[in-house]
Amino acid sequence: MNTTRFCLPVKASIITILSLVLSLAMSPNLSAQLTLDRLDSANRANNANQTKRDPINIIDNIWWVGHSEVGAFLVTTPEGHVLMDSTDPEQVAWTVEAVVKAGFELDDIKYIVNSHPHEEHIGGLAALQKLLPHAKIIASEGTADILASGGKTDFRNILDTEGARFFEPVKVDDTIGHLETIEIGGETLTAHLTPGHTTGTTTWTMEVQDKDGKTYNAVFMGGMSASGVDRGPLLNNELYPEIKDDFERSFAHLKSLQCDVFLYGRASSIELDNKLAKLDSASQNPFIDQEGCAWYIEYYEKRFQKQLADEMAAR
Ligand SMILES: [Zn+2]
Repeated sequence: MNTTRFCLPVKASIITILSLVLSLAMSPNLSAQLTLDRLDSANRANNANQTKRDPINIIDNIWWVGHSEVGAFLVTTPEGHVLMDSTDPEQVAWTVEAVVKAGFELDDIKYIVNSHPHEEHIGGLAALQKLLPHAKIIASEGTADILASGGKTDFRNILDTEGARFFEPVKVDDTIGHLETIEIGGETLTAHLTPGHTTGTTTWTMEVQDKDGKTYNAVFMGGMSASGVDRGPLLNNELYPEIKDDFERSFAHLKSLQCDVFLYGRASSIELDNKLAKLDSASQNPFIDQEGCAWYIEYYEKRFQKQLADEMAAR
């Protein structure tokens, strides 16, 4: 997939854009009526108490444009930008504000991609699609299906109706496969399909340069949490029969990646605040964190293996 030049819409003022996105974000929708019960307790507390953040220039041309806990990333290039994730419908306006505050034009967002189709990460996509009709929404096939259904085809929402969280459906413009790329402004973002947490979970990689002039591989993790026995069994899961094999393949693939800059759309997972505190003073950019990356993969692989062992023991 190569860089494409788009016809840009008539430029609205920032105030008009922000008021539009705020009204979209606040319009009644199904997800707003639902609770945050889906998430584990730590995430639930973090989601409920989220606050706005100023945009953070993580490294090179990568920006955090998410909130105190849930993230969205902006990759900027001279020929347009890529936005990764939206955050949820109630807070997507903050993401838009952060992009503007970082000094970038909303009209220059050419592609919108995502980590995985759970509401707190992508629930604001429908609002973004209305706000930025020129931006192409790109997703894996598995994710495209879930986005189009507003979360109704996500196995967890079917198995766990009480905790289900739906969102306004989104039709993607194009799908992307394993190791396919988006090329824009001299940057290459590679999609790595790492299903398990959802059928469409996608990890993204790109190269960045730090102040030392060296090149590092940035990995935007797609999300690797196993679902918990009650919310999605790993064995005999009729709605997602490949779930165990997918997780195993995804962990193996993640371990094969060179991961220097460890990124994920959760501030707590990547220790965003600790790293932010050191960002200006440390001799090396603290987001260069190979250990953090290895920790993330090992932590979730162990949890996956424990769930698998528990299910086998219960047979
Ligand atoms: Zn998730």
